[in-house]
This record gives sequence, structure tokens and C-alpha cells, in this order.
Amino acid sequence: MAAFANTELSGIVAGQSISREFALRLLKCSTSELPHLLAAAQQLRERRKGHIISYSRKVFLPLTNHCRDYCGYCTFRRDPGQPGAHTMTPDEVLDVVNRGETLGCTEALFSLGDKPEAIFPEMQDGLRHLGYRSTLHYLEAMCELVLRETNLIPHANPGLLSFEWLRRLREVSPSIGLMLESTNPSLAAHADRAPDKDPAKRLTVIDEAGKLGIPFTTGILIGIGESLEDRVDSLFAIAALHRKYGHVQEVIIQNFRAKSTIPMAKWPEPTMDDMLRTTAIARLILGDMNVQAPPNLSSCDYPRLLEGGINDWGGISPLTPDFINPEAPWPHLAALQENTEAAGFTLKQRLPVYPDFLDKARANSPKAAKHLRNLADQNGFAATAFQNASSTA
Ligand code: SF4
Repeated sequence: MAAFANTELSGIVAGQSISREFALRLLKCSTSELPHLLAAAQQLRERRKGHIISYSRKVFLPLTNHCRDYCGYCTFRRDPGQPGAHTMTPDEVLDVVNRGETLGCTEALFSLGDKPEAIFPEMQDGLRHLGYRSTLHYLEAMCELVLRETNLIPHANPGLLSFEWLRRLREVSPSIGLMLESTNPSLAAHADRAPDKDPAKRLTVIDEAGKLGIPFTTGILIGIGESLEDRVDSLFAIAALHRKYGHVQEVIIQNFRAKSTIPMAKWPEPTMDDMLRTTAIARLILGDMNVQAPPNLSSCDYPRLLEGGINDWGGISPLTPDFINPEAPWPHLAALQENTEAAGFTLKQRLPVYPDFLDKARANSPKAAKHLRNLADQNGFAATAFQNASSTA
């Protein structure tokens, strides 16, 4: 390890780009070499991000858990008629958002299944009853409702989007998310039952969001049968799109979590060692981009994720559960602050749009511009950032 610890690694920390081969070699490094890799990722974070670790205080709105896909790791989706199947009404959306506002939330995360009306007549009927032609029309209206009635800023995560829908949604959702998951097109986790998980289609969405200048959140999902090569290729693909357009505001490194109710119930979960290697490689490939890992998916070990060079904890809710991983509660905000500070960092609340992307978002989203102006401080973080988390969360 010493050979590349002293030369190639320090070159990357100093700003040289990393090759695919070297990234792969690092990802496969021995246990005794791992501290060198982590130290390099931490140095690079310090150079590019300083000592700030951010998070977004949010409410999670599962607008509908119907979905036309059947991913092997998903515990969120329901067919119509299954226990727990639900599409939120406008009143339910407003109730959650209003309660979130009183707790200092600034993000309304809309996370939902992909195009359920394409295969379920029940969803078509439900949408017609609500007065909308499609799930995306309904989502657009609910984002507008949130902007009209509250101070929260929508962040939409509705699956694949056409160029036209990206253009429409950016007006009411100044940042948008779509996980790439993996560039591998033939993962058993998708097994031909998830047409919207085709990596080529997902890369097209991220590319078109770049053409539209939309601050975009994406990431990889690890432990779903991909190879280490796939992980590195996925990160390079995201980096390439960001180089082209400068629009990827956040890259999530998400670890698969097994649940008894899913087809992949017996699959092994990635270890903390695996997460640390992957987050560190992400930092070295992505340089000054924002790298996030969800703390609730690493239980009480989550502060260790900071060793891998991440600079963001993602969305944390003091009100709503993580409907994608309901067994994994988010840490209490006071504990998150305490653990982040104990590791030598300052925790800062951000908006769903990262500080460096606010100008872009204001230009794209006239309907959200007032919210983005009013909620941000002079550095682009949340103006209402909690100083004492225990008082509100
Ligand atoms: S992970 Fe998303 S796309 Fe896949 S089944 Fe679940 S809700 Fe649908």
C-alpha cells in the first residue's frame, strides 16, 4: 500500500483525477491498507468541504405506494387492495407538511411508485376521482399546493421522467431525485420485472436534467448483486454527467437492507467495511461533489460513515418514518448533532437544494424562488437552522 499511499493517493488528494483501474484497486484493498484509503478520502473532504456536515430536515410524503415495478429489495410498493396500499389525499399531504413546518422542516420529500396507472385500472380510477390524468399530474399539483400553503420546498422523487416532465416539475420542485442504483442492466434484483430500473433510461433522465440545469440528486444502491466493477462504473458515469452539466448536487451511497417481507430477504447486507470502502472511493472519484450516506441504514454505527469522507447525512425527519426502510428510524436530531460534533464537525441544516445550487434553482423555479430566498441564510444553508436540536426535535 505504501507505494500508492505516498504517490498516487496523495496526487488524487491534491486534485489529480483517478483512473478506473486505480479506483477498483483501492476498492479491493486489504484490511491493513484501508486506513490509507480512508485517510485520503477524509483529506480530500477537508480540502473541498471543510468541517461542515449537512442534512435536510424533511417530511417524507409517500404520495402513492402503488408502482408498476417489482424490485426484489422493495418493501415500499403495494398492489391495489394489498394491506397498507395507499395514495395520499391532498388533505393528508397538507396535514403532514403543516406539522413538519412547526418542527422546522424545510423539505417536503415526495417519494412514490413509478407510473402505477400504467398497469392498475384502480389507480386510473383513483386519479380520475381526485381530478388528475396521471400520477405525475397529481404530483405536480401537490407540489404546487405545498408551495402555496406552506414554507416547505418540494423535492420530487417520482421515478423515470421525460424531458417534458422534467421541465414541468422543475417549476414546482426546484430539485429532483432519481437513484441510478447501478449501471449493470441485468441485476437479479430487477429480474425483468422493473422496466423503470433500466440504467440506460435512468442515465438519460440524469442527462436531460443536466440540459435543463436541474439540481439533481442521484446515487448508487450497493449490495443488490452488483460487482465492485459495477460500483466504480456507476460512480464514474455520475461523475461524467456532472462534468458535462454541473448539475448533480448530491450522490447517495445507499446500502441494501434485508427485510423478511421481500424476495431478497436472505441476501447478505453490505458491512460497515464495505460502506466505508465505497464511500471513500466515491469521494475520490467525485472530488468536490456532495457525498451522502443515510445514517438510519447503519444503526448506531452510523457516525463511522464520516470516516469514508461523506459530507452529508441526507434527509432526516423529526416527524415521519423512512417509508422505504420503515424498520430503520432516523437518528434523533440532537444525537446526530452530538455525534457529528464529537467527530470534529459542525452540523448544518440545508434546504433540499444544496447551497451551491440555489441560484440555478431560483432561476428554474419562479414558483419556489420566494421560498428559496426566504429560507436560506447568506451561505445558502437553512436560515432557521436549529442551534439546539434538542429544543425542537
Ligand atoms: S424500489 Fe421504487 S421502482 Fe422499485 S418497486 Fe419499489 S417503489 Fe417501485
